[in-house]
Amino acid sequence: MTDSFEAKGKRKKLIEELRRKGITDEEVLRAMNKVPRHDFMDPAFLNHAYVDKAFPISSGQTISQPYTVAVQTSLLQVKRRDKILEIGTGSGYQAAILVEMGAKVYTIERYRELYLKAQTVLLSLGYSADFFYGDGFEGKHQYGPYDGIVITAAVSEVPQKLLTQLKTGGRLVVPLGGTFSQVMTLVQRTGKNQYDYSSHGSFVFVPMLKGTVK
Ligand code: SAH
Repeated sequence: MTDSFEAKGKRKKLIEELRRKGITDEEVLRAMNKVPRHDFMDPAFLNHAYVDKAFPISSGQTISQPYTVAVQTSLLQVKRRDKILEIGTGSGYQAAILVEMGAKVYTIERYRELYLKAQTVLLSLGYSADFFYGDGFEGKHQYGPYDGIVITAAVSEVPQKLLTQLKTGGRLVVPLGGTFSQVMTLVQRTGKNQYDYSSHGSFVFVPMLKGTVK
């Protein structure tokens, strides 16, 4: 996989667009300028990779829109060496951004095909993360508690098990709502049994579904 002069130029323009749309976290913008998003999509789609839109990947799923990735990542307030759990590996793009920011990343995907493919892509780019094929509703208790949890699929309420796997002081970012529109929600765990919720705009995600697919 190669990162051409052309791709770098398109990426830089995309970063400027994200700034215009209100993304201010320099670390997020730096990471997004570094990670070659086109490597997470079919090679035929270089022209789509740096447009600020979601795009189909295999198994009927999508790589999130760059703006959406930027918002979710900014809300997480990632610090180097933070332990982050991602639900919905998909293409692996969001995971790569988190690794580029210095996080220790654990990511779960329910489609075996995507789980396998994302690992190959991250490996080829020299990014290391821990990949799991499974149901994100369960989380990954054995590696927690986490500084941050990012759910990249839509749910109507925050899965209970994920709330308990968050550190006190930790941040969970999730699109909450129905099928056609969700509200980006930041949940901060402020005490053993205390969670503060705040809303950050409306988005559209594929649904978070139970169980795994071979
Ligand atoms: N973070 C991804 C976005 C993928 S879209 C990226 O950067 O490309 C959401 C993903 O969540 C899909 O791949 C979907 O299969 C996955 N997903 C949905 N429900 C899930 C569940 N219960 N556990 C794990 N993954 C799930």
